[in-house]
Amino acid sequence: MKIAVLRETVSGEHRVAATPETVTKLIGLGAQVSVETGAGSGSRIPDAAFTAQGAAIAPTVSAAVHGADLILTVRRPWAGRLAGANPGALLIGALDPFGNDAEISDLARAGITAIAMELMPRITRAQVMDILSSQANLAGYQAVIEASAHFDRALPMMMTAAGTVRPAKVFVMGAGVAGLQAIATARRLGAVVSATDVRAAAGEQVESLGAKFILTEALKDASGVGGYARELTLAESEAQAALVAGHIAKQDIVITTALIPGRPAPKLLSAEMIETMTSGAIIVDLAAERGGNVELTRPDEIVEHNGIRILGFTNLASRIPATASQLYARNLLAFTETLIDKSTGQLAIDWNDELVRATVLTRDGAVVHPHFAATAA
Ligand code: NAD
Repeated sequence: MKIAVLRETVSGEHRVAATPETVTKLIGLGAQVSVETGAGSGSRIPDAAFTAQGAAIAPTVSAAVHGADLILTVRRPWAGRLAGANPGALLIGALDPFGNDAEISDLARAGITAIAMELMPRITRAQVMDILSSQANLAGYQAVIEASAHFDRALPMMMTAAGTVRPAKVFVMGAGVAGLQAIATARRLGAVVSATDVRAAAGEQVESLGAKFILTEALKDASGVGGYARELTLAESEAQAALVAGHIAKQDIVITTALIPGRPAPKLLSAEMIETMTSGAIIVDLAAERGGNVELTRPDEIVEHNGIRILGFTNLASRIPATASQLYARNLLAFTETLIDKSTGQLAIDWNDELVRATVLTRDGAVVHPHFAATAA
């Protein structure tokens, strides 16, 4: 069985889908691994580090993909890049299927069996394969690092001979995986941290990290299915806006991470609210890729408004690429291990496995995932 590891072509994408560590394990499963030259360069992994573990370096994408049974990527490649793979070859990556029906249909027509890792069920067995958690955790960390790098002041309290510097105030909106890591990171840097969420259960987690939890009385709990938030009613979002408006003016750094599954990101900060903040304050909008939590966010830009900067990086995990690749590659390895028969070293997929059923988008020339089949071109 041949496994191909592709070089990413999306601008700003520095991660790679396999590392020397996971290549060793893939070869241990009986596979031959072909890595497209330069695939690791964004994460500072030279080709030689892959060859040292037994991988072959392919000079072109077509050489990497030729005769491949399994292709590992971070982002969805254009179907044309996969020409020459074996019929029915698996493509495993963060394939971003929502709103990309035509591209998913192209993969089906190309005879690719496409597997979208972001659709992995968030159940205990699949935690080790959960790319959303591994990458959101790093994005939350990196948000604080970016904020502190742009902030013109120190984060911790400092008592010096020249006087005392007060600690920065950091406010985190949305205390899911990314938000909790942002809270922990800001606390480690010595900031005074507060946070809000619409799920009451988040309060305990926020407080266990030493931050203050803020929840409006009008909003008891907006937990939805599967531990996610539901969309707020108009009255609830007005109550939340009133609470935030009073709090935001005193904050030095605000990190927004609020998302609702399958919906555009909720708007949490208006221009009017931002205008109450002090010049020099920093806002990091982790929801930038899904429309943003902040009215003034522009994707992949730093917007300055009244001296307040709004950072709209859409791929924060890729700004810490070596660690992001390390964890992402382990997530992919863990899933791949379930697809290979260790005695033969060949693919042996249980199409009825709930992890497979939840993630397979295309198979045998058709879009088969129930969510996407109806809209497929
Ligand atoms: P997410 O990325 O969908 O959303 C981020 C956060 O934004 C969530 O905490 C959500 O409640 C919050 N939010 C939504 N609307 C908001 C608003 N108007 N104001 C403020 N906050 C708002 O969520 P996530 O980080 O993927 O995690 C969501 C839940 O799933 C958590 O309870 C987490 O513990 C759980 N989870 C479970 C597993 C697992 O069991 N394997 C893995 C990961 C996450």
